[in-house]
Amino acid sequence: MKTIKLYDEQPYETEFEAAVISCTPSAKKDGAYEVTLDKTLFFPEEGGQTPDKGVLKADGEEEVEVIDVQIKDDIIYHTVSRKIPEGITLCGIIDFEHRFSNMQQHTGEHIFSGIVHSIYGYDNVGFHLSDNIVTMDYSGKLDEDDIAKVEGLVNEAIFKDVCVKAWYPSKEELDKIDYRSKKELSGDVRIVEIPGYDICACCAPHVRRTGEIGILKVISFQNYKGGTRVSILCGNRAYLYLKKEHDMIGRLALSLSTSWENIPDVFSKQQEEIADLKKRLSDMAEKVLLKEAENLPDGENVCMFAQSGTDPNVARRIVNDLMEKKSGYCGIFIGNDAEGYRFIIGSKNCNCNDLLQEMRKTIQVRGGGAPAMVQGSVSCAGSDIEKVFACI
Ligand SMILES: [Zn+2]
Repeated sequence: MKTIKLYDEQPYETEFEAAVISCTPSAKKDGAYEVTLDKTLFFPEEGGQTPDKGVLKADGEEEVEVIDVQIKDDIIYHTVSRKIPEGITLCGIIDFEHRFSNMQQHTGEHIFSGIVHSIYGYDNVGFHLSDNIVTMDYSGKLDEDDIAKVEGLVNEAIFKDVCVKAWYPSKEELDKIDYRSKKELSGDVRIVEIPGYDICACCAPHVRRTGEIGILKVISFQNYKGGTRVSILCGNRAYLYLKKEHDMIGRLALSLSTSWENIPDVFSKQQEEIADLKKRLSDMAEKVLLKEAENLPDGENVCMFAQSGTDPNVARRIVNDLMEKKSGYCGIFIGNDAEGYRFIIGSKNCNCNDLLQEMRKTIQVRGGGAPAMVQGSVSCAGSDIEKVFACI
């Protein structure tokens, strides 16, 4: 027996009475039961949208949470955690805050997709609406300007407070309607029209007027399978998102002691200062290392240590410099005992790969290179490195 979909005609109702047609153990969830009713307000998981939340309550019984709602062959299955007697009449209550939020997101999606279709001719080929994400996939590429334009037009449609119509047209009427649809439809087709913006086949509940969407904000977009994936938020979800962003920008302005408008300028100035300081630090480190290199004790092989963050180009210059003065291996190790060292080793007369082989006998070494110069990393104490250099 088909379940009567009360949400089709009464998307704003929150409570209903229904007869329990069947209650059978769930095949998907151990210990759970699937309840079918003669009619329901619970919208099932369908068309990319997650199901309604709520409870079922029989007379004299504790209410039981509806943990899932699915539809198959026009029969709607409510998953609950305990058995409910068949044949009784019970009361169902849906979580309207959750439902209304879904209606806002969903209706916002219709307007967005309708406008994308009318301006760019792209189809909505994917839709996902869960409790924390709303994404739409379009069949063509949209850039930043396109997205901004559509977002502006959607919000205009919201402010105009257009009436949203949903109905089941007759076959003859349906044949004359040019509507969007993600798939070939059979059986009764429900049409949702937002005059001037969209006309689409859809089974879900929507708001009565576009003004109830409140606001639509695009959160992100990206290229996806040759088209575009767009993430949006509507209504309270958009408000909470923008509030979080607003609070964060406020804190940022406060910590930078500037106004909101000046944040980008202050930020880029700080970036320049950081780059300048890094350059000066690198120059100073180079000078210190060069001084150390000058004062190295006599010997064929030399090995130096430098702090983490030392510019590898500086290290390479020093190794090149040392190679001119020393006949053996010249190595520089950047890092510390705890985190390990990155190294560059060079030699004018010896094969550096031979040294790496020697090091591998006692130390974990990654890396390699040409006979004249090798680089890589080691995980060991500096004293172990010194020992290898002293013994070769
Ligand atoms: Zn819809």
